[in-house]
Amino acid sequence: MMDFSPSPEQQERIEKARAFTREWISPNAARYDRSGEFPLDICREAFKQGLMNPHIPREYGGLAEPVLDHCMVMEELCTGCSGIGTVIDANGLSQFPVILAGTDAQKRRFLAPMTEELMFSAYAVTEPEAGSDVSRVKTSAVKVGTDYVLNGVKWWITSGSVASWYFVLARVGEEPTGFIVPADSPGIVRGPKEHNLGQHASNTVRVTFEDVKVPEAYRLGAEGDGFNIAMSTFNHTRPGVAAGANGITKAALNIGLSYAKRRRTFDKKLISYQGISFKLAEMMTRLDAARALTYKSAWLCDRGVDNAREAAQAKWFAADVAMHAAIECAQILGGYGYTNEMPAEKLIRDAKIYQIYEGATEIQKMIIVAKLLRMKEVF
Ligand SMILES: Cc1cc2nc3c(=O)[nH]c(=O)nc-3n(C[C@H](O)[C@H](O)[C@H](O)COP(=O)(O)OP(=O)(O)OC[C@H]3O[C@@H](n4cnc5c(N)ncnc54)[C@H](O)[C@@H]3O)c2cc1C
Repeated sequence: MMDFSPSPEQQERIEKARAFTREWISPNAARYDRSGEFPLDICREAFKQGLMNPHIPREYGGLAEPVLDHCMVMEELCTGCSGIGTVIDANGLSQFPVILAGTDAQKRRFLAPMTEELMFSAYAVTEPEAGSDVSRVKTSAVKVGTDYVLNGVKWWITSGSVASWYFVLARVGEEPTGFIVPADSPGIVRGPKEHNLGQHASNTVRVTFEDVKVPEAYRLGAEGDGFNIAMSTFNHTRPGVAAGANGITKAALNIGLSYAKRRRTFDKKLISYQGISFKLAEMMTRLDAARALTYKSAWLCDRGVDNAREAAQAKWFAADVAMHAAIECAQILGGYGYTNEMPAEKLIRDAKIYQIYEGATEIQKMIIVAKLLRMKEVF
């Protein structure tokens, strides 16, 4: 039976994440948004408090945190700042290919050290001509002796300039193949930080591979397994991304509600007008619906059930709910909604990325349709 009321252990994680957000994220969110600096001090503390790398299996020193528990944590962190939340969470996107397809030796070499000291890793799949259509990646990996030699360009790589290693999708002949590539390998060039619309604390860069030698021992799975590894990773990470979007919705709701209770127009509080209070009612209802989809997709994942459809539904729906909530929040705040004196404009900028990264909204709908087409009937 699905029951999403938090267990005592989950409640403890939620409280911990909430306290961390209150002390470390919320007071610094505007500063990092303005400066675009990488929030290293916050990551150090998050690492110390066991809020980073939650998915690493216990035998490699990790917490093996279930995806559902991680969603509860992510919602809290992203209520304070989804840019900082993304930085804290991003390692998971490159760790999951190793967790799912790595050998014991690969896990010991690349995952275990991440539980001992603060380190970052990055998922390097997108290319100038291959974003939604991952099968078009052009980065090549040519076998030379016991090494592969990689050439190509990856862009919009989150944590790309701080990563110690990358999960890279490259083509061996025609076969998309996954590799773990140490960032200090000769021939890797990291570009400057991109100037994104939102989530300014997060580090997005281009990473170029010029004759980069990668030992055969760092290939993930067999040649040709890369596409499946890269895609199945999303079934584990999309619930957490949806939860991040839910954090934005919660922040928008709290800001809008508190302002509507204070602000007076025409001798009455804003909250007394249906035109305003109904917005809040809708935001709350959409948040509950987005959470239900998010938790269900995570719950299925934790049970080893194929959750591709549910993860796509959660990611798409939660992203749209967050975007809508951020815009409604700005509307409730009136002029304050448009200035950076109040956080509504930041929420709008930050929310937009949820409709794009880890598979844009249209791609999530394509996944849902593909699953629908396999059904005779919907029950
Ligand atoms: C801030 C940021 C961080 C990122 N982090 C990473 C990262 O860490 N690692 C990584 O590998 N990538 C990362 N990305 C890349 C991201 O995943 C891609 O931008 C995203 O998948 C979309 O690909 P694209 O930009 O090439 O758009 P395109 O694939 O060119 O699509 C453009 C638009 O067309 C739509 N579209 C495409 N095909 C169809 C279709 N068949 N039917 C209907 N609509 C369609 C898309 O949904 C989109 O709206 C990041 C991007 C950003 C902006």
